[in-house]
Amino acid sequence: MPTSEIIAVGSELLTPLRLDTNSLYITRRLNDIGILVQRKWVVGDEPASLEEALRIAMRRVSTVLITGGLGPTEDDITRKVAAHVLDRQLIYNEEIAQKLRERFARVGRALAENNLRQALVPMGAIILPNSVGTAPGLWLEEGKKKIVLLPGPPREMKRMLDEHVIPRLASATRGEPILRRVIKLAGIPESTADERIAPIYLGYPKIQTTILAAPGQIEVHLTAVKSIHPQAEYDLDRLQDQIEEALGDKVFSTEDKTLEEVVGIFLGMRQGTLAVAESCTGGLIAKRLTDVPGSSQYFNGGVVTYSDQSKIDLLGVDPEQLRQHGAVSAVVAEQMADGVRRRFGSTFGLSATGIAGPSGGSEEKPVGLVFLGWSDSAHCHSERIQFNGDRELVRQFAAQNALNMARRNLV
Ligand code: ATP
Ligand code: MG
Repeated sequence: MPTSEIIAVGSELLTPLRLDTNSLYITRRLNDIGILVQRKWVVGDEPASLEEALRIAMRRVSTVLITGGLGPTEDDITRKVAAHVLDRQLIYNEEIAQKLRERFARVGRALAENNLRQALVPMGAIILPNSVGTAPGLWLEEGKKKIVLLPGPPREMKRMLDEHVIPRLASATRGEPILRRVIKLAGIPESTADERIAPIYLGYPKIQTTILAAPGQIEVHLTAVKSIHPQAEYDLDRLQDQIEEALGDKVFSTEDKTLEEVVGIFLGMRQGTLAVAESCTGGLIAKRLTDVPGSSQYFNGGVVTYSDQSKIDLLGVDPEQLRQHGAVSAVVAEQMADGVRRRFGSTFGLSATGIAGPSGGSEEKPVGLVFLGWSDSAHCHSERIQFNGDRELVRQFAAQNALNMARRNLV
């Protein structure tokens, strides 16, 4: 099983200002050809840190990929450190120097002396052309180990990886991709989901099962490696089927769709339209529905009715009921859903009203209490849900659960 470590070089990656995103792209492309990433490093521009990382990584894995620090300036240390660790001399490569001269001549700039540093390569390195920048990449082999040096700028790194690195690595491995299935769930807590499916996935020790939780959403990731598990596809199919069966309608996608996309698909199938009335979510539900391209086909629009008066004026909520039960109540949620459906002339209406906090809660109606409403031409109903969390989280939970309510009613 081929394994790798990635080392991102750059002191800026150790500040709050920049994030190492290169390694995400590299990991995806490595996984496509069946190489697992076992560890990632982020080191500053000091030779000692990079040297230590490279020495340790080379002991553990067959492929080490380094990004960044290939530029022409004094703080670009990668070339030098790699040569030192592999005990190779840096030699001047006239071909690279010539390409650099041509590149600079084309844009009418003089080549500074330090640019020629990029023409220094460790003995025995294969040069990887950079089709969108100046710093060439380098491919080094030490016994069975491969060490690949890539530039830091994401655009240059990606091109070089795709054009020159992945094809070389794929021909060395059997190139079997890492297989991955994603099952997305809503309306079930992580612990409950795990309780139901752990007895199933524990029966498949060769498949790695990971559960990722986000507000109101759980993802079950199943990963298998064909090169060491010839039946991987068959086992993944079986495991996925069993998990889907155990979780029933909690599963909203096995095709990596978002909840709002799934709602759109169901509306399309029913040839229906939707309108939303939002209080505590402040437009978040409408925002998510309209994140989906083509949503104008089924989403008529929405209103943010934050004050009591706007609920009465725009949605026709009964002032008497509102006074009696309060804006955060089942009746008001239902009247909001029904009102917005009529107002927009849509097939379905969806609403959310709740207490996002941090203030405004009471014993009877604590912070995090949300009522969701659903209406079609035949009937209305509502759900009462109590969330835990700060204002932002309560709003996210409420929007997520409202979309899930729409999905369940449309199935
Ligand atoms: P050059 O100096 O020739 O541009 P380089 O190989 O020396 O190339 P760096 O100087 O390390 O690359 O980085 C250049 C740019 O790319 C910077 O803006 C940096 O923030 C960005 N960058 C570097 N490494 C990463 C990374 N791992 N993830 C995302 N961006 C990165
Ligand atoms: Mg640089």
